[in-house]
Amino acid sequence: MSLNEIRDKMQKEISQSLLMLDNAIKTTKLPIVNEQKTNNPLWIDVREIDLRYQIPVKRIFKFFEGLREGKILATKCPKCGSIYFPPQDDCPKCKISNLEWIEMPKEGEIVAYTVVNVKPPSFSHYQDYIVGIARMSNGVNVLGWVRAKEVRVGMKVKLEVIERKPEGYLTYELVPVG
Ligand SMILES: [Zn+2]
Repeated sequence: MSLNEIRDKMQKEISQSLLMLDNAIKTTKLPIVNEQKTNNPLWIDVREIDLRYQIPVKRIFKFFEGLREGKILATKCPKCGSIYFPPQDDCPKCKISNLEWIEMPKEGEIVAYTVVNVKPPSFSHYQDYIVGIARMSNGVNVLGWVRAKEVRVGMKVKLEVIERKPEGYLTYELVPVG
């Protein structure tokens, strides 16, 4: 499915549920519909919010530049040595900013994971996916999608820059070794 088809499909689903809401208000005078799976009453806000997160990234922009160069960068506090990933520009322990940039090691090992088959609406166009935590060789834990059909604790993985399809943006994933 193309990105536009996915957007159309989501818009149609939203329109349908709004239609259900209109009908519910007409018959019961309440903005309540029964959830399809459980039949439990669900209160639905009649006002719509189109939510798209925006996060200022000026101080960690180097991380995104790194992705384009195939590098996965973290920050390190020059005072206490704490490593932050995803990177942040402040060390809460030392209360200082302007941390150093370092490259994350590629080698890690899965310490926990979960298979996501009930997805939030904005992820409904993806196949079931696995989210895992890997302990990297520098001791830092990384949370990310695991590019595999099956995972086990102790599995060796590599931290790699990948292109998330169909959107086409660069991010990182944990990829099994061998
Ligand atoms: Zn520090």
